[in-house]
Amino acid sequence: MVSELQNRIDVRATIDVYERLPETGGLVRFGVAPDHADTKKVQEQFAKSRKATGVTTHLGVRIGEDLTHEDLAGSHHAVVYAVGSLHGRDLDLPGADLPGVTAAADFVAWYNGHPDFAGRAVDLTHERVVVLGNGNVALDVARVLTADPDTFTGTDMTEEAVTALRDSQVREVVILARRGPTHAAFTAPELLGLARTVPVVVEPGDLEGPESGAVDELADEQARFYRTQKLALLQALPAAGSAPEGRRVVLRFGTPPTAITASDGGLTVAFDDHGAPSELACGLVLPSIGLRGTSVPGVPYDEARGTIPNADGRVLGPDGAALPGVYVAGWCKRGPTGVIGTNRFDARGTVDALIADFHAGLLTAPSAE
Ligand code: NAP
Repeated sequence: MVSELQNRIDVRATIDVYERLPETGGLVRFGVAPDHADTKKVQEQFAKSRKATGVTTHLGVRIGEDLTHEDLAGSHHAVVYAVGSLHGRDLDLPGADLPGVTAAADFVAWYNGHPDFAGRAVDLTHERVVVLGNGNVALDVARVLTADPDTFTGTDMTEEAVTALRDSQVREVVILARRGPTHAAFTAPELLGLARTVPVVVEPGDLEGPESGAVDELADEQARFYRTQKLALLQALPAAGSAPEGRRVVLRFGTPPTAITASDGGLTVAFDDHGAPSELACGLVLPSIGLRGTSVPGVPYDEARGTIPNADGRVLGPDGAALPGVYVAGWCKRGPTGVIGTNRFDARGTVDALIADFHAGLLTAPSAE
């Protein structure tokens, strides 16, 4: 976002970056998996932008507490919110609030050292972890739970988390998806990355039948290509029964969870196994069913979508009209989908809107320093 503004705004413009945490980076620092060093390299680019002339970073400042939206709006031509989607979506399932049911997003933030999640108790004393949902976050947590813990030494993962993984009793991570394999939310490169780290197996029956999802019915050609590719990769995986000894990840499809109960010092996840009730005992359940944002005091917020209402990045007030000089970019603009490149593209759109409004004389000059 900052580099977009620098590239496109007159060099006399000054940019203040406000961050509530003691370090910048957001999702790249606290969300991207610690073993994805190449992806994390984008942080170097962000660091360069923040060192550029006219850019000042203010750490440890909470908007709504230390400064209000009105303070920012009054002292700048424009305010751009890029506050992301930190939290996991709420799971609407009996037993979802039991101890041991932890949003995958919280688990990720914990092992990456996000200050809000320090000291979280994560029970890795049982042999099995069940993950609900099969997006890329689900694959990330499955890989972290089953990889050699030494992989994470010297990365952004905390010492506390590396030690917990060394002491972990987890041998099997089961990823339960409510829909069939052609609707899998993970991407093919992430599945290949997981399979390179740990044996990944699939229930052969899950790849057949009505729940497998008919690729031909899908309208979009690109979506059809990617889904066909994913199905081919899944069909090439070994069957669940043939897994070698040691740690493994089991992918299940068409197996919606129905309830979570506490049992024998652990948890039991009940699910529908293609029409037959089934269950899995485990120590930890990680719902990984997407993410949601949080509201910023004084800024409109769509609670249902977990985003800031906007048109092309221009924040909309309660009457549906654009609020002059208030913008939004990234996941809090359009919801938590896509990768880092998607957000760069998205930031460009917001900057286009901001610059157009500036040239149209719609931005008010700062009234206070
Ligand atoms: P996601 O991709 O939206 O996947 C959410 C999963 O949860 C889907 O399988 C969905 O199934 C399931 N789900 C939703 N509601 C459910 C419910 N009530 N009960 C059971 N299952 C439910 O979310 P994500 O994994 O959090 O990823 C968010 C974004 O970050 C994605 O764009 C992802 O690609 C990106 N990301 C990328 C990387 C990477 O590139 N390495 C790593 C991490 C995250 P249905 O389809 O049936 O709704």
